[in-house]
Amino acid sequence: MNRQLNLSVWVPDQPWLLGPTAKYPGKSLEQLMFQNYSYVYHLWWIRHRQYSGKRPQDNLHRHLDWLLQTGERIVARQQCPQCHKRLVAKYAINAPYSSHSCCQSGACQTKVKNHFNYPESIGLISLTFGSLWQFTAQRQRQGVINNLFKWAWQIDRFTTENCWQLFINPNNE
Ligand SMILES: [Zn+2]
Repeated sequence: MNRQLNLSVWVPDQPWLLGPTAKYPGKSLEQLMFQNYSYVYHLWWIRHRQYSGKRPQDNLHRHLDWLLQTGERIVARQQCPQCHKRLVAKYAINAPYSSHSCCQSGACQTKVKNHFNYPESIGLISLTFGSLWQFTAQRQRQGVINNLFKWAWQIDRFTTENCWQLFINPNNE
């Protein structure tokens, strides 16, 4: 998905609030990344398809490009539950909970796989919004967000402000 997005260093000044006639009036796109990721992705996809290969055509398109790009590189705020040294970066597809997450280290990844009866068949995926597409049902994607993303990125409630802070500071600096 990354390759389809227009790379840029542009960062918006404020969250994108939806107007009164939108499907989610008064909510921000930042908040909806957590509350309905496929909706935000769909808004981006419509524009991407229409303007394929070109620079973003309007402010919304540019904002969506930024949001989805950033969603692929937000650094975790939690430490790896296996080594307690490095930051969480991966999780098990078949059991997307904090206890089955780990950092980039091979030893920690092996440790997670060994939690299961068939370690060799366990897939670990990166902690990004794009990883949600590994799950076909909306209910499953929302479960990953609520059970894992919320914890990993230390968001207690999906308010516009909390979500916005995460997107404007993806490296946690
Ligand atoms: Zn680790």
